[in-house]
Amino acid sequence: MPDNRKLQEAVTLLESLPDLLVLFDSRGTCIDHHGPSGDSYPMTPRHGRPLLEAFSPELAATISPALADCIGERRSTELDLQVNNQQGEQWFEFRAMPCGDNLFMALMRNITDRRRERDALYEGAYHDPLTRLPNRAHFMSRLRRILERSQTHASYTIALLMLDMDRFKAVNDSLGHLVGDQLLIEFGARLRRAVRPQDLVARLGGDEFVVLLDNIQSAPQALAVANRIHGALKQPFQLAGKELHCTTSIGLAVASGGYRSADDMLRDSDMAMYQAKSRGRGESAVFEQSMHQRNLEQLSLENELRRAVAEDQFLLNFQTVHSLADEGVSSLEALVRWQHPRRGLLLPGEFIGLAEDTGEITGLGHWILRQALRTGASFTKAMGRPISMSVNLSGRQLSEPGFDEVVLRLLEEAGVPPSGLLLEITEKAVNLDPKAHTKVLQRLHEKGLRVVLDNFGTGQSSLSYVLNLPLHYIKVDRGFVSRLAEGRATRVVVDSVIRLAHELGIQVIAEGVEREGDKAVLKDLGCDLAQGWAYTRPAPENEIFTHLNL
Ligand code: C2E
Ligand code: MG
Repeated sequence: MPDNRKLQEAVTLLESLPDLLVLFDSRGTCIDHHGPSGDSYPMTPRHGRPLLEAFSPELAATISPALADCIGERRSTELDLQVNNQQGEQWFEFRAMPCGDNLFMALMRNITDRRRERDALYEGAYHDPLTRLPNRAHFMSRLRRILERSQTHASYTIALLMLDMDRFKAVNDSLGHLVGDQLLIEFGARLRRAVRPQDLVARLGGDEFVVLLDNIQSAPQALAVANRIHGALKQPFQLAGKELHCTTSIGLAVASGGYRSADDMLRDSDMAMYQAKSRGRGESAVFEQSMHQRNLEQLSLENELRRAVAEDQFLLNFQTVHSLADEGVSSLEALVRWQHPRRGLLLPGEFIGLAEDTGEITGLGHWILRQALRTGASFTKAMGRPISMSVNLSGRQLSEPGFDEVVLRLLEEAGVPPSGLLLEITEKAVNLDPKAHTKVLQRLHEKGLRVVLDNFGTGQSSLSYVLNLPLHYIKVDRGFVSRLAEGRATRVVVDSVIRLAHELGIQVIAEGVEREGDKAVLKDLGCDLAQGWAYTRPAPENEIFTHLNL
């Protein structure tokens, strides 16, 4: 019979494969079998006996419904079976299919190697090799699935916690990448221990981790988890023989069916995380819609800032600095403003931070220096004696490669001697990279430039800076000056700052002097210089010229 011949050909072909092949009829009785026998396959078919008898009782129970389906519905079925035998854990693929009127075929194939390869691939593709935690791809696919589920149940609440370690870069830079890696591993392990087993902890990359709380009761419960994580980090880490304190900022996005896209939820938790960072170390913040608005404004300002440098929308105002002894002008401070096409005149507090973050400060900083030096030169000429120009520097500028050479070149271009430029720095600016920044200032000091420590008294480690930096002036912060009239305490503080500075050969400038009375007190205390509304308000160059009758 032609049909039989075809079947015989198929059987011959299949016999060459390392599979176990069984032919059976519609009653489930074995008619024939081919292929390896013995312990290597969890199936020992016997001619004329029910196929199900060929399996262990547990396997038979698993296979039975599929087999019934195959015979009853005349459909192919497929099952992956896990078996533990002498070779350890083995995987088999079992397939049953109709192949004639009253004839069926079952195939058993060992797929252990294929399965292991797939698991390894899965492990590699879905796990972070360092911390062994699920990675971004894994996390995103889980988040998508959970969001879908949360859409169908109104009361289903999930929370996404976005974590970013505080000052991780400093650890990495100062203690090396090996210690950094170890910290990431231990950090991941602590996170894992701080949450429930069913919560997903994943590493998105770098020092960014996420925790996904599935099916929680309320937002406060998510905050409680965030607090538990902060608590779990209180204990220092023991790494490379050192005790390391590590905190994290946490941004939370909580959803009850509100999110359609995983990307949206991730973005919102990220925004909340930045909010938490801005509050200091080891803080949490929950996402609110208003953050969106603020972020959009920030983004548009960022784009506009980029254009503003090219389109010359900045201008400088100047404030005179006076000798307290004779009220004569000793220098000018340059204060930058942004003439924004829509928002009007913006003060530095509204854009310097952004310019630092985006790197625009480099170009803007050069422009400010060039412009300020030019104005300094014209005042010197008009007044017939040297008037130095004070320029505020941000930390990013001090990090700029070759910054000292740029300053020297700009001085030369403007025909101003190094003594004509005062550089105002803050503790915060030096703090970004104390060693390198102190060196840059040292080099400039050796060339004859003078350095002013601005906003003195607002930092935390003021005295150490005074001792390490090449300082000519300390500027006592406006906060102290404005409270001088209030009572003895502020006066005592300012008095001791002045004494200490003088002891070290440093002169003192008081800033924000608004009242005549303060001038007298400062003079009494021996303060050298002062600036503020009591003398002049910051104004464009021509107005200052007029004011000084030049
Ligand atoms: P700062 O260096 O401490 O500048 C003094 C600030 O006090 C200025 O604010 C000035 O307008 C204000 N001020 C002056 N006299 C008085 C007074 O009597 N009373 C009161 N209440 N305020 C007074 P401004 O111009 O908004 O500058 C703020 C800060 O922005 C500056 O603080 C400085 O740190 C930064 N900044 C200004 N210009 C630049 C710049 O060109 N580059 C960089 N990197 N930062 C700048
Ligand atoms: Mg200043």
